[in-house]
Amino acid sequence: MSSFVKVDSVYLATQNEHKIVEFDGFLRPFGLNVLPLPAGIAKCPENGVTFEANVMEKASYYAQYCDGFVLADDSGICVDALGGKPGVHSARFAGPDGTDEDMRSELLRQLESIEARMRSAQMVSVVSLWSRSFPVGIVARGEIEGMILDHPRGAHGFGYDPLFFVPSLGKTLSEIPTHEKNRISHRAKALSSLVNTLEKLGMI
Ligand code: IMP
Repeated sequence: MSSFVKVDSVYLATQNEHKIVEFDGFLRPFGLNVLPLPAGIAKCPENGVTFEANVMEKASYYAQYCDGFVLADDSGICVDALGGKPGVHSARFAGPDGTDEDMRSELLRQLESIEARMRSAQMVSVVSLWSRSFPVGIVARGEIEGMILDHPRGAHGFGYDPLFFVPSLGKTLSEIPTHEKNRISHRAKALSSLVNTLEKLGMI
């Protein structure tokens, strides 16, 4: 298929250095360099009720201030027994100042009366690529299926990883090293789907 335009670098819509390294590690083999946002842009508010709404809002907002493509991401954990909560509110599940441990305790508290086999959940990542000189935004989603344990297991990772048991691995995401998690994660799947679309459009 003929391409609209070639893309060889993207600004990542984040202030988080680790995310830049993680995304760069994934995208560089496909010829995409991941750059930090130019300095001095006011932070984009995140008010969406879906991951998709948040990434489109973020990517299109930052694209106004950048020459080239902006990649935005949003992620979280969706627990079926809680109707998909905490979802887009995953980072603030224990309030604005809650630590990772506080968030995990809150999740365990809300699941207290739910039996083990009913604790299915998904780790979700949605990414969006946007440029002010490109006619459409591209959105891609990745998910991994798991079960929420009733106590944390493992020492790696962050956030909800110690509670998120992946049946196909027989382990939580905290019981595998970070480089292994980065190969199978919801983010890896979303980025892989994005790369697939860019390849189909002849953009990389
Ligand atoms: P954000 O997409 O960086 O805003 O992340 C949202 C929140 O979702 C994080 O603060 C974590 O609580 C949770 N989360 C997202 N990805 C992961 C993951 O890979 N492991 C554990 N928790 C995650």
